Amino acid sequence: MSSEETTINTEATAPAKTSNFIRDIIEEDLKSGKIKKVVTRFPPEPNGYLHIGHAKAICVDYGMARDYNGEFHLRFDDTNPVKEDQEYMDAIREDLKWLGCDWGDHEYYASNYYDQLYEWAVFMIKKGLAYVDDQNADQIRETRGTLTEPGKNSPWRDRSVEENLDLFERMKKGEFANGEKVLRAKIDMASPNINFRDPVMYRILHQTHPRTGDKWCIYPMYDFAHGQSDAIEHITHSICTLEFQDHRPLYDWFIKTLPVPAEPHQYEFARLNLTYTVMSKRKLLRLVKENKVSGWDDPRMPTISGMRRRGYTAASIIEFCDRIGVSKANSTVEFSQLESCVREDLNKHALRFMGVINPLKVVLDNYPEDLTEEFDADNNPEEPETGTRKVKFTKELYIDRDDFMENPPKKYFRLAPGIEVRLKHAYYITLTDIVKDAEGNITELHCKYDPESRGGASPDGRRVKGTIQWVSAKYGVPAEVRVYDRLFNVENPDKVEEGHDFLENMNPDSLTVIKNAMVEPALADIEVGKAVQFIRIGYFCKDKDSQPGKPVFNKTIGLKDGWAKEQKKA
Ligand code: ATP
Ligand code: MG
Repeated sequence: MSSEETTINTEATAPAKTSNFIRDIIEEDLKSGKIKKVVTRFPPEPNGYLHIGHAKAICVDYGMARDYNGEFHLRFDDTNPVKEDQEYMDAIREDLKWLGCDWGDHEYYASNYYDQLYEWAVFMIKKGLAYVDDQNADQIRETRGTLTEPGKNSPWRDRSVEENLDLFERMKKGEFANGEKVLRAKIDMASPNINFRDPVMYRILHQTHPRTGDKWCIYPMYDFAHGQSDAIEHITHSICTLEFQDHRPLYDWFIKTLPVPAEPHQYEFARLNLTYTVMSKRKLLRLVKENKVSGWDDPRMPTISGMRRRGYTAASIIEFCDRIGVSKANSTVEFSQLESCVREDLNKHALRFMGVINPLKVVLDNYPEDLTEEFDADNNPEEPETGTRKVKFTKELYIDRDDFMENPPKKYFRLAPGIEVRLKHAYYITLTDIVKDAEGNITELHCKYDPESRGGASPDGRRVKGTIQWVSAKYGVPAEVRVYDRLFNVENPDKVEEGHDFLENMNPDSLTVIKNAMVEPALADIEVGKAVQFIRIGYFCKDKDSQPGKPVFNKTIGLKDGWAKEQKKA
């Protein structure tokens, strides 16, 4: 199964080789000659979309293979046909590619190994190490014992090899109903490790499988499929999360007991947990199914596709996973740590544009009626090689309502009566008149501009403290802007009192839709998903819901950590 050629893309966004215990083990195994080549796998169950926790696992699984010039497999753990779906497989592949993973032609499915697994089950029956149990799921649970009490042997535990072979074959042929029988390993009902108390290996499930169709009506359980699949693929380091630690002895027992072609080893690291986030696929599925979000890729979701749609970059997610590191101790990471990685990366690479979220019209009384001037605007001062673009300037403009105050406090440097400001890249302006409607709302400002300040330069050494962004009323494009906040308003949304539900912890104000923002025309044509900065406001990206001439922007994140500020105030 393992090929000589490596298909790893070493050019992919590679974080620094931060040391961790898994890296140490791999280096030792390579040095001692225990292995010649590291082979890892990422084994998603296709029953949901990938989330930021999976990204961490991917960074470890893929990262180790990449860093040691090994081999990386994508293996769909498709042993539960009830919950699995083609849509999920497609989404998983897309997300992995987006994160820079390259598995070449090493795409596998646990279902590829059903014939082999069946043979190994028969092998175990023949050795007297497996039996068909007629007890139902409840009876099996009730007789399993507890941490302090041993379990009870099943009355069917001592069936003869012949009877077991016959019954198991008939299970396969479809002679029994779901749940009527299971195949169990015959190990030790008194073992201190509950996983050893005759674990179920196969169950009956009359269910069409997306890949094997109706060939099978018995399906292997995770514990019987996973390690053996690793062995078939010659995986050297089977890396998973801590909840599988107690399964490792069983993993090793199957590997030792069966005539498998290789001896993989399992290593566990701590799951990633994030504040203000739920990460269980079951819970994420509820958010989707109960329409609490617009879908798996809702920009508020902790899924890879949600984060991508929100405007997070793959590089920032990978950097985050690298910074938090790999450890054996469970912990919860601050969401703001992820946000800093996003902000840092966007600051370096996002192109700058002008947009106003809450437009207020400004008329320059002394500016010629039909004149359009063009000014040079730099695309990204952090990356001068990105050059400049032209922005069109006209008599009527929009500025952001937040950039004007009729009665400003001290030290207010934006537009106000008596305060001159610079329109970015354009001119100095001063207020001449405020127009209000019958209710006293400001509807329009009149200003005069200083023709000598062309390009935003001081005409006579006089200085202004404020520079504000603007959009030409004539050329600007109306846009919808979606502003997001945390999906949950408590640090640990999973923690709920008896009789309550995690959905009660949702933040009712996690989405604000602004219908009438104005953006400079260059933004209307930007590609969907491309990260941009609206200067002075934050980072945005165009959403797939955009229509020609009607762009929709997702706010990725503000320029500064507004949340931290709010928290401090509170
Ligand atoms: P479920 O919640 O359905 O049990 P899962 O989150 O374990 O699913 P899988 O598809 O089985 O999802 O996960 C694939 C791999 O990703 C596994 O190796 C798992 O250990 C790892 N993984 C899942 N969640 C996290 C997490 N929060 N942090 C790190 N790794 C994770
Ligand atoms: Mg799982």
